[in-house]
Amino acid sequence: MALPQDFGINVFNDRVQKETLPSEVYKALRATIEAGKQLDVSIAGTVASAMKKWAVSKGATHYTHWFQPLTGLTAEKHDSFIEPEGDNVIMRLTGKSLTVGEADASSFPSGGSRVTYMARGYTAWDPTSPAFVKEGTLYIPTVFVSYTGETLDKKSPLLRSMTAIDKQAKRVLALFGINCKKVATTVGPEQEYFLVNEEEYMQRKDLRLTGRTLFGAPVSRGQELEDHYFGVLQKRVADFMRDLDEELWSYGIYSKTKHNEVAPAQHEMAPIFNTANISVDTNMLTMEIMKKVAQRHHLACLLHEKPFEGINGSGKHNNWSMSTDDGFNLLNPGPSPETNTLFKLVLTAVIRAVDDYQGILRASVASAGNDHRLGANEAPPAIISIYLGDQLGALVDSIVKGVDYVPVEAQKGYIGVPESPIFPKDATDRNRTSPFAFTGNKFEFRMPGSQANVADANIVLNTIVADAFCAFADELEGAKDIQKAADKIIERELKAHYRIIFNLDGYGPDWEQEAARRGLLNYKNTADAVPVCFEEDNIAVFVRQGVYTRDEAVARANIQLENYAKTINIEALTMLEMVRRDILPAVSDYVANLCTNVAAKQAVNEELPCTGEKQTITALAALNDEVCALAGKLENLLAGTNMSDVAACSQAMAHKVIPLMRDIRTRVDKMEKLTSAEYWPYPTYFDLLYSVNG
Ligand code: ADP
Ligand code: MG
Repeated sequence: MALPQDFGINVFNDRVQKETLPSEVYKALRATIEAGKQLDVSIAGTVASAMKKWAVSKGATHYTHWFQPLTGLTAEKHDSFIEPEGDNVIMRLTGKSLTVGEADASSFPSGGSRVTYMARGYTAWDPTSPAFVKEGTLYIPTVFVSYTGETLDKKSPLLRSMTAIDKQAKRVLALFGINCKKVATTVGPEQEYFLVNEEEYMQRKDLRLTGRTLFGAPVSRGQELEDHYFGVLQKRVADFMRDLDEELWSYGIYSKTKHNEVAPAQHEMAPIFNTANISVDTNMLTMEIMKKVAQRHHLACLLHEKPFEGINGSGKHNNWSMSTDDGFNLLNPGPSPETNTLFKLVLTAVIRAVDDYQGILRASVASAGNDHRLGANEAPPAIISIYLGDQLGALVDSIVKGVDYVPVEAQKGYIGVPESPIFPKDATDRNRTSPFAFTGNKFEFRMPGSQANVADANIVLNTIVADAFCAFADELEGAKDIQKAADKIIERELKAHYRIIFNLDGYGPDWEQEAARRGLLNYKNTADAVPVCFEEDNIAVFVRQGVYTRDEAVARANIQLENYAKTINIEALTMLEMVRRDILPAVSDYVANLCTNVAAKQAVNEELPCTGEKQTITALAALNDEVCALAGKLENLLAGTNMSDVAACSQAMAHKVIPLMRDIRTRVDKMEKLTSAEYWPYPTYFDLLYSVNG
């Protein structure tokens, strides 16, 4: 591929639209995309036929409505363009096929929001995210709703939340004399992942069925040497990354940065930010492409939040801001934030929103996989707090404490070598442990998990910030002196929400106690975190901002708990299968082999020492029995769990099943260390983690 000309070569983007559409149609379509004007359906036929013609020229024979059901994945159903004409066929895409499709909603999670006889679901074109051709099919991004109009996907509420921000932010901007066509949220999701050799991956049932290793004793060399982060790329990894970049670029994805991450075999790709819904779509596509490109290189790409115990897990830092259609970033503090009332008001809105709705923000990133990061001994912690950095921290302190603001100047750094340039020291020095950090002109929400659809987090962020804007605008619109009234709001709200600001180390042992004293929430697992979504205030904010109806909000929380319980159930069943069919028999064989050896030795001479063998035999035999008994207990526990009662069942998973799985794992990992490598049925952590980077 050649850049820049081949960038976005598979995308029906602005340039192609301009080239292939009649100018009035092009203008009408752009008005929908850029200014949020209602789509003029009469243009659909013309757009469809241009899209089809372009797609066919790229080798496409099929089209699909592409959507994001509540499974957390993407869904597609391919239809060919062919239509009979005499003995022949013609290739056709009608305006109707472009704009509406049908999908059986009863086969997707709905959280009981839809009565079964209304199983019909519809997909509807989202013109704000561009269509693209992939492997012979034209992909049309769509929303997915039920016959009665309830949302059944992640995209429609995301779009609604963006509409809410647009509406409320414009009210605030107008008070400060700024009029624009549209305010959109911008998102840059940094994607972490692991790469392992395909051959070893294929031998691990746990990785294949659950995405993570359920067993595995630690390797002697983990990440303690701190040598993998930004380390030199191994050839196989570099080749994979180059291939990945080219593929992503061909789909118009701004893949920008790539590097090794902290853990062995861990890497990251960061794209340049884009409008939130495009970033969500392209991130979903990125994850899929990562897996496919890995296969081409005989690698397996692991997107799970915690594929390996004992080393870092993977997240997806969600860089978030708001911007007008002419590029004004609402979170840009400018050279003197202390006199920038609009900026201070926007910042205050975010602080208030995050404090008031920390529960739903935390819940938005809760999943079985992410529970291994948040609340476990890994950054960020499960407690939501905001890090502002030295400069804004000092500004907020001065307002809350009523003292003078002393600007923290960005200092010039000097490395002591005259030839080397002087570099600016960043005043927003990065606190890597904060879950929600201000980083220059955006917030970086670091809690989302690596395999998450970041729509979830952004739906909540957009909704709660829109709600704070709405409250401020309601109050300010009647004011005589806007500046004065705004200053009053800023002071009042910063004082009220000061507890959410925490500029120190989120790892520190004292933080949990301090956070509890401040009344901040600290839910360590999904089963405990999600139920806050059923609280009245937490439902009302979605309803007020037109993002979810009451039923939708409840249904989503139920689905999240259900997905959680199902995931743990699958993990537990996989664990049982591995223990019963592979691990216990292997260990038993090894013990039998040791016993044979002892007997053979003693047959030769009863005095021959066999203490080593006997110790191992005793230890392994005991562990084998313990694991066998625990497996029986786990089996009974699962059999007695009523999966249809989501609340009770997710509680049982979190507080009974997981601790039991932990007990089994600890023992199996001990067995692994005592068992001959020849007998152990699975590739070890060493085999996996150093299969590519060894
Ligand atoms: P780092 O955090 O590593 O220093 P950057 O600050 O350059 O890197 O950006 C990290 C991510 O934040 C990138 O994906 C970048 O595109 C994204 N980003 C930068 N500005 C914005 C913005 N205004 N809105 C959303 N994301 C942004
Ligand atoms: Mg980051």
